[in-house]
Amino acid sequence: MLKRSLACASLLSLSLSMLAPAAWAQAPSPKPSAAAKAQPRAKNVILFLADAGGVPSINAASLLGYGEPLKLHVQAWPNLGLSETSPVDHFVSDSANGMSSIMTGVKTRNGVISQSPAAERGKRDGQPTKTLLEYAEQHGLRTAVVTSESIADATPAATYAHSNDRKKWGEIFPQAFAPRFGDGVDVLIGAGRKEIGEQMAAAGGGFDQLSKAHSRPIYAQLDQVPASNARPVVVSDHVDVRAATLKALDLLQASPKGYLLVVEWDAHTDDVRKGLQNVVDFDKLVAEIQGRVDLNDTLMLFTADHSFGLQVDDGRRGEPLLEGYDAWKATGKDDHLVRLKNVQINRTHTAEEVAALAIGPGAEAVRGYFPNTHLFKVMMDAFGWTPDPAVKD
Ligand SMILES: [Zn+2]
Repeated sequence: MLKRSLACASLLSLSLSMLAPAAWAQAPSPKPSAAAKAQPRAKNVILFLADAGGVPSINAASLLGYGEPLKLHVQAWPNLGLSETSPVDHFVSDSANGMSSIMTGVKTRNGVISQSPAAERGKRDGQPTKTLLEYAEQHGLRTAVVTSESIADATPAATYAHSNDRKKWGEIFPQAFAPRFGDGVDVLIGAGRKEIGEQMAAAGGGFDQLSKAHSRPIYAQLDQVPASNARPVVVSDHVDVRAATLKALDLLQASPKGYLLVVEWDAHTDDVRKGLQNVVDFDKLVAEIQGRVDLNDTLMLFTADHSFGLQVDDGRRGEPLLEGYDAWKATGKDDHLVRLKNVQINRTHTAEEVAALAIGPGAEAVRGYFPNTHLFKVMMDAFGWTPDPAVKD
């Protein structure tokens, strides 16, 4: 552990303090005994979810951002596993099943938000499956969800809501105000203001009504949040993910009992430059956040909900990875397959396993091939929590 941490530090020119070995790896406290071997515990967990950011996208993001492989910050983390993402009935996952599996430890069907596989998208409900965020609320931790996408979109929704259809934003978003455990998600920052507003209006509601009913303002911009508000809800048209995440972390770090922070950044490479640049920026944010937390008590996990059809199959050092991108973009074509000089994009989700990278207490359980539901267990174990008995369909 120590050697690996030092290797990371030299690779990335990071300060040693940022990557100091966890306390449990240091000299044992007064009486070394069997108890000293206890499972390392995390007070805080931060989950970074690169939506559609599979192994090929991590590889290509390093090439785009740095002209070399293995230059992303997370690629120096000491624990790596390959997380299998399929739903119960298909080979390829969407974000709804992918994130639900990570957050609840229960695989379900595509389109379904944190419900058991008995759910059928748009047709019938399954049992709600309890999310890690709900466990965190039950245990009195502070919780936050930040996303570049709609705050009611499948990935963030799977943390705080239960629905048989990911598109029911007017039904999903209000669930953040009617929590099943604790006082519900404390910090919620995302986009989708227009569409969520329209769906709530169609159901006879709206931001104002919801806000009044729960005495909780819903801001349209992050900079409208007063310093006195420790539980802000921001639903914008566009989100500055870095600013939002730093704000959320500031608020969570005041929590005496610890926190759960979930950050999603879109990494779909339908538009390959945009998607890969998002991964580069996300990775920089991860490095920045790591510099603000204590790895002795904070587990950091970076993964994806599913992979995406992207392959680098040519190119050389010193030349642009995305040669031909501007010409392709100018055509305005929306083809399923995009052929650039060095990259082929099959613009759809794909079935191969995604990387799960981790550092901090409990991170060593992230290794080998495993179903994505294992990540739920990794985070629960890090907190030292036992899941409730499994729901019956
Ligand atoms: Zn996704």
